[in-house]
Amino acid sequence: MSEQVLIRGGRLIDGTGAAPRADVDVLVEPDRIVVIGADAAATADADAHVIDAAGRTVLPGLIDAHVHCTFDDVASNDELFFHREPTVAALSAARNLEKILRAGVTSIMDPDTVFGMGPSLRDSIEAGLVEGPRLSTGVQALLTSVGGTAGRLIPDEGTVGYAQIVNTTDEMVTWTRRHIKQGADWIKVHATGSIPTRPGELAVWSEHELEVVCDTAHELGVPVTAHCRNAESTLRAARAGVDLILHASFMDGEGLAAVVEHGAAICPTFTFLANLADFGGKVGASPGMEEIFRGEIEATGKMMRAAYDAGVPILCGSESGFALTPYGHWHGREMEVLVDALGLSPLEAITCATRNNAIAMRAEGELGTVEAGCRADVIVVDGDPLADIRVLNDRTRLTAVISRGRAVDLDRPWPEWTPVRGWKVGAWAERSLTHAEAYGEPS
Ligand SMILES: [Zn+2]
Repeated sequence: MSEQVLIRGGRLIDGTGAAPRADVDVLVEPDRIVVIGADAAATADADAHVIDAAGRTVLPGLIDAHVHCTFDDVASNDELFFHREPTVAALSAARNLEKILRAGVTSIMDPDTVFGMGPSLRDSIEAGLVEGPRLSTGVQALLTSVGGTAGRLIPDEGTVGYAQIVNTTDEMVTWTRRHIKQGADWIKVHATGSIPTRPGELAVWSEHELEVVCDTAHELGVPVTAHCRNAESTLRAARAGVDLILHASFMDGEGLAAVVEHGAAICPTFTFLANLADFGGKVGASPGMEEIFRGEIEATGKMMRAAYDAGVPILCGSESGFALTPYGHWHGREMEVLVDALGLSPLEAITCATRNNAIAMRAEGELGTVEAGCRADVIVVDGDPLADIRVLNDRTRLTAVISRGRAVDLDRPWPEWTPVRGWKVGAWAERSLTHAEAYGEPS
């Protein structure tokens, strides 16, 4: 029986940035795109599986350059660091990876994973044990004892959840090498951290410390990504040689010049902020944050546009894995934000989520474009994303997902389960039960 898939008569957006082409046939087999255009049908085996894409749009499988596939749509740092254990974390990650693939996302980059399970998940997907997208992964994030976005919840040393605390340059070298030995595709550094008594996030790595990690990783052929949520950290990361800057929040002109000079890519990851700003009220998110996040998108969006115009590769990431960005629901939203906040055309935004995102997969020229010889990840969408980019964030518009040359079954029930015992944090109450509250007395 033929293992080929022939996608017939669709309108092709090939991910290179080229204008769409009408009525194009695409022939794929595991795991290569074989022929595109007039010869595809003639070349195909007589019993090739045929997908009719007439009136539909054919695109490269989407790439999400910033996902946390082991967080299980977590609602709080408490849960993430203290209510997770390895067995359920691995089992839930396996089902969540399936959701991501079924949303048309055929590749993801995950910089840091709970219990450092990223390389094992990646290898299990490759082996066919777990159904999921291609995974380019870190092990854990390297944090100084200031503690990333979880502040004082992070211990002064050791390992917790997705965090590995490093306090000296010796430890930075040691853990970079250990993560590479464990199979890291990326080394991740939390270049900023939050302290409850101080506003915003602070740069908590010196430029020299970042350089030590970059030099150690680069010597072993592994790139470095850094979470940078203020201007200073972006400047330091770019100068130190960080390859992919996540967020780059509030980047200034000096930071942008350093990014251009040193050749870093940026994945701004606005989706989490945009969801909180636009829909946070619907899910009881902390009130008062909407305006702050909207302001951050506006301020950082202007600089991202300048970066885009200066030729910096802008990547598309959703930060899926949190309660505000559950798996399978928001992987395409970043493109919408790039259109709205940066003023990119839909075609330019798609190119960010396809060709540019291949950088996060370390697979430029292999992934992110539909060209003969590329890996066989292709999606078919009912609708025109150039007229409305939001169709790429609507799972119900997907009519086919081809991953590694094979059609993914989109008709099964969506994976769902009840909360695993001990896994979610329940609050005792939303506010204090005073005597006046209980008996309706004037307070
Ligand atoms: Zn993240």
